[in-house]
Amino acid sequence: MIFSEQGFCEHIKWKTIHTCSIDGKNFYCVYCLWFNTKNLPSVEINVFDFEKNVDQFSWDGITVNDILNYSENPEVQEHQKKYHEADLSYPILVQKIRSRYVILDGCHRFAKAIKKENLQKVNCIEVPESILEKSKWL
Ligand SMILES: [Zn+2]
Repeated sequence: MIFSEQGFCEHIKWKTIHTCSIDGKNFYCVYCLWFNTKNLPSVEINVFDFEKNVDQFSWDGITVNDILNYSENPEVQEHQKKYHEADLSYPILVQKIRSRYVILDGCHRFAKAIKKENLQKVNCIEVPESILEKSKWL
């Protein structure tokens, strides 16, 4: 965990802020999540055990279906790039909420695993509450 003197995540100084949130209230630094989970074991999780079906995802209104089709919209193209470059060797970071898995980081990898690779199971790290707490963004 990297903290500045102010007690904030040092990653605030980085050029690209990369945060995630499940509820829109609590935000986590994705760099901290990666750092704090790097020694945790990954597990294979069935795609049906996720809270959302891949077709229910959206990135600010951009759906998986949108990124699978040709588009001239630069925002869609940005997600298409992330989708095609998604590296499935990195585990998806998930949180277990009421026996269903919710993605903290790795929606593009999840989409690619299902839509491109036709996988039934994806490689994930279940992030414990203590690490979420340590990775809080401000
Ligand atoms: Zn951080």
